[in-house]
Amino acid sequence: MNLEPSAVIVVMKPDASQDQINHMVSHIRELGMTPQVIIGKFQTVIAALGQERTGLVEELEPGAGVEKVLPIMAPYKRASAELKTERTVVKALDLEIGGPRIAIIAGPCSVESEEHIVRMAQILKQRGAQGLRGGAYKPRTSPYSFQGHKVDGLKMLAAARAETGLAIVTEVMAPDQVDVVVEYADVMQIGARNMQNYNLLQAVGEARKPVILKRGMCATMDEFLLAAEYILDRGNPDVILCERGIRTYEEHTRFTLPLATVPFLHEKTHLPVIVDPSHGTGKARLVPPMAKASIACGADGLIVEVHDDPEHAASDGAQTITPQAFSQMLAECARIAEAVDRTL
Ligand code: PEP
Ligand code: MN
Repeated sequence: MNLEPSAVIVVMKPDASQDQINHMVSHIRELGMTPQVIIGKFQTVIAALGQERTGLVEELEPGAGVEKVLPIMAPYKRASAELKTERTVVKALDLEIGGPRIAIIAGPCSVESEEHIVRMAQILKQRGAQGLRGGAYKPRTSPYSFQGHKVDGLKMLAAARAETGLAIVTEVMAPDQVDVVVEYADVMQIGARNMQNYNLLQAVGEARKPVILKRGMCATMDEFLLAAEYILDRGNPDVILCERGIRTYEEHTRFTLPLATVPFLHEKTHLPVIVDPSHGTGKARLVPPMAKASIACGADGLIVEVHDDPEHAASDGAQTITPQAFSQMLAECARIAEAVDRTL
């Protein structure tokens, strides 16, 4: 992919003089760029085309007669749909995200025991999932809460894959965990709390397994896409974006799930977009309707917390649905998928 061509638009003030316009044209030439003057009825604009470089806006903006300088290209180049128009499809075993079929990743919040995760994998595979989620390393708000079984948890997940063939999705919290997570898992998850952990993003960018990047709970879309850019820039093309809800003043849900993110991201990026209605709502009964809404607005997949005994789950029980609710949800989602020309 060619990242070089770039451009900014210099908008001159309506009363800019011809001298001021000429001055900007020669300034743009001095910077090694090609100016293209567009004379409008009220205002003149100058497109400056040429090599990508930082600080261009700041350099041109103080010019006499300049009203504003606008970058044309998105700051995230590799993630942008401007430079790669074909959509990215990410594959891990039978899990395919970004294709015509809606991808389903399901499982408990945490890996609890081998017996449990294998049983859950069998149930979920039989009910239609292609990916198994489960945290071995858990980012918990309190240091006194269950922190996950760590490497033992990864081994339990691998046992569940051996039994079912489901692709393993699990969180990696630190750069020094990447090697061991890659050894056991099929897809690495970067949690919301780590979306701007740039060392971690670079470390997973150097690994050769797909990454689910969860949106930080306070991150803007530019911050989210620039976080993806960190991974892509290190040579890992297989990034899946996940909307998982943001912090707002609302108290009726754990987070606020802004689904407009999904069509917005599909406009801005070629990367697949999935939704996590479990963390997005924090309430099990709100998960199925928001899963359906996610598919309706174009999500390429869902990541959902499911447990056969949510009341006794090691973490996030309140937002965890039962296998029965999961089956019912998928049956309803299949009808929505059909309405938006997808399959499930
Ligand atoms: C999780 O998937 O269990 C999790 C911790 O998610 P998030 O990073 O979105 O809070
Ligand atoms: Mn969770």
